[in-house]
Amino acid sequence: MSKRKVLNSGYVKLAEWMGGDNAVIRNARRCWKSESKGNESDLKLLKHLLNKGHKTPFEAMIFTFDIKCPLFVARQWFRHRIASYNEESLRYCLAERDYYIPGDLPQDLLEIWKEHNERSFDLYEKLIKEYHLRREIARSLLPVGIYTRFYWTINGSSLMNFLMLRTDRQAQKEIREYARAILEIVKEIAPLCFNTFEELVLKKGGNC
Ligand SMILES: Cc1cc2nc3c(=O)[nH]c(=O)nc-3n(C[C@H](O)[C@H](O)[C@H](O)COP(=O)(O)OP(=O)(O)OC[C@H]3O[C@@H](n4cnc5c(N)ncnc54)[C@H](O)[C@@H]3O)c2cc1C
Repeated sequence: MSKRKVLNSGYVKLAEWMGGDNAVIRNARRCWKSESKGNESDLKLLKHLLNKGHKTPFEAMIFTFDIKCPLFVARQWFRHRIASYNEESLRYCLAERDYYIPGDLPQDLLEIWKEHNERSFDLYEKLIKEYHLRREIARSLLPVGIYTRFYWTINGSSLMNFLMLRTDRQAQKEIREYARAILEIVKEIAPLCFNTFEELVLKKGGNC
């Protein structure tokens, strides 16, 4: 399955999918009691669906992604309610010493950045190991740049909404990088749908 590295330590990996171009076209054509009539006609149909906001046929595609991203990115991500999430819990699991490092920090700032993160982890681990503080309490000492992992299951229509909002220049650069990586993956799975979506919606909106 496709995987893309994102930021210094994150990734997006397609865990499972169902549907694709054929499922969307099949479902859409039910409205006219018809079947696929070849690529050119299917493309015309997809453009019609996207232009008119006839979104339900895109729900015939379902994707599950395995995501690793900083907590502050996950916080923005989880605002997208029309999807399902299962995240690893820092009540039960020990946080890994893994945190976001922006690629463009000058050397002096980079050292301060790492030192602050390392010191937070030192204290977190010490309180758990030596003072037997519960993980669910000790985690509150950790910065929001630490990485988390979750499974994300979403249908094609809701994914288009996510991609439209999160590839936009107004969205934070870090979540934009995840959205771009996801777009690249789904273009491999459903090229007709997502290339058309990119051309008609994202490029027209100035997103890419
Ligand atoms: C650039 C940017 C800046 C943002 N800044 C902030 C911020 O400062 N503060 C903040 O709190 N949030 C902020 N957000 C989050 C934003 O308000 C949305 O919560 C987030 O983008 C999810 O979008 P959504 O509701 O379309 O997605 P989903 O939750 O996946 O919903 C998809 C669609 O389903 C429908 N829907 C879902 N739930 C409801 C409902 N309860 N009632 C009616 N319709 C519903 C809507 O049509 C919605 O578009 C920001 C988002 C972006 C992209």
